[in-house]
Amino acid sequence: MGQTGQTGQPAQGGRAEVRELQTALHTASDIAFGLDDAPPADQVAGLVDALRRALEAARALEGSQGGTGCREHPRGAIDPLYGDKEDPLPPGWGRCLLCNDRRRRAGTQRYAAGR
Ligand SMILES: [Zn+2]
Repeated sequence: MGQTGQTGQPAQGGRAEVRELQTALHTASDIAFGLDDAPPADQVAGLVDALRRALEAARALEGSQGGTGCREHPRGAIDPLYGDKEDPLPPGWGRCLLCNDRRRRAGTQRYAAGR
């Protein structure tokens, strides 16, 4: 216990999913490579279960990674207005709050300059 950051990436939340994904894939491949031509139903069920767990872990990982979808601030905050129907963001704007704030500031400066 203690030192864990060998990858240099702050992987909060992702680590458990990675572990789960690896475990599930190991289990799945163990079962898959042990299968014979007529595998018993419980073996197949175990394989399906392991693959499903792997898929769920991978999806959870996807969710924890692709927060903003922004290359510059992948772990930044998501703009609360993203996907808001009442007050939609201008076309081309992403989910990244930091980038959108920058765009907003640029926009207001342009307005100010035009007056
Ligand atoms: Zn950004």
